[in-house]
Amino acid sequence: MFCVECGNEAPIFRNGVCLGCYLKSTQFSKGPRILDVTLCPRCSTYKYKNTWLQESFEDILKRQVKDSFTINPELTTVDIKTSCEEKDRIFSCTVTVSGVIQGQSITEQHPVTVRIKHSTCDVCSREAGGYYEAILQLRTEQKTFTKQEVELLQNTVEHLIEGLQQAGKRKLFLTDYEVKREGLDFFLSDKGAALSIAKKIQEQFGGDFKQSSSSAGMKDSRQIYRMTYLVRLPPYHKGDFFSWGDVFYTIVSVHANKVRVVDLATWEETVIEGKDVHPSRIYGGRELIRELILVSQTRTELQLMHPKTYAITEVRKPTTKEWTGEMIKTVTLDDHLFIYPEQ
Ligand SMILES: [Zn+2]
Ligand SMILES: [Zn+2]
Repeated sequence: MFCVECGNEAPIFRNGVCLGCYLKSTQFSKGPRILDVTLCPRCSTYKYKNTWLQESFEDILKRQVKDSFTINPELTTVDIKTSCEEKDRIFSCTVTVSGVIQGQSITEQHPVTVRIKHSTCDVCSREAGGYYEAILQLRTEQKTFTKQEVELLQNTVEHLIEGLQQAGKRKLFLTDYEVKREGLDFFLSDKGAALSIAKKIQEQFGGDFKQSSSSAGMKDSRQIYRMTYLVRLPPYHKGDFFSWGDVFYTIVSVHANKVRVVDLATWEETVIEGKDVHPSRIYGGRELIRELILVSQTRTELQLMHPKTYAITEVRKPTTKEWTGEMIKTVTLDDHLFIYPEQ
């Protein structure tokens, strides 16, 4: 057969022409000369159709090119590449479309001007309007939180928010924050996230959890509710020393309403109810630990010396273990000296 285009004797590919002539006369891809990309200047997310996406300019441009370009379906293993140069929020880009037809590679290039439009995204406009769906309230069974506790709780909540945001909860933000005499209030934009933060706080610090809702008016003829998640933190913390009956303990971990404790005299571990740790019997935390010098030991006792006063004391070993090392961590509670359990 002869090609009607070039007159050569060659296999006819389509419409009476050979493959070579077909490729020469066919445009496989086409698209607009100008593309508009919408960017939120506050949080740098890009708008795609009706959603806002946290991705790179390159990725968002690729999405828009895929949507707005038409590519001949005969082309297989299609690949789209873009390269851009920016000047004053205008990008001069080259879109390169490549693919394969009948074993023949095709590459086509298109100049595209990309204009960046600024628009505030849904989340940022909510944030600017002071929007919140839930209040996380942290309270204590004691009268008020100490300064250190306020700092620790604040950091913990902030970390949890960041973690959820990084895991893709884009609609989550902290609208407002209040330190009151009775505790801390966090105003959060997402009730699901607020609930999971409340649960994590309870898990980490112990205490009771309660939730309540209140009406916040109507929206689109639907009743809107705001949630309040309250965590009442217990008076004890991990690391605290306390007594219960005649026995002295240290708290090794806290989990919701349960407390894992170690008997300081025997180093035996047990789990007790948090409510059995009475605030009046808590001596304090790790700040009570003192290091004493190991002088000698028998099978059942250690002889320890105070590094400044050189006073010597004897203390019963909690286990038959042979002690090595110069310094021994101890704690004294109501005149009873204990060896601090190794953690
Ligand atoms: Zn031909
Ligand atoms: Zn934004």
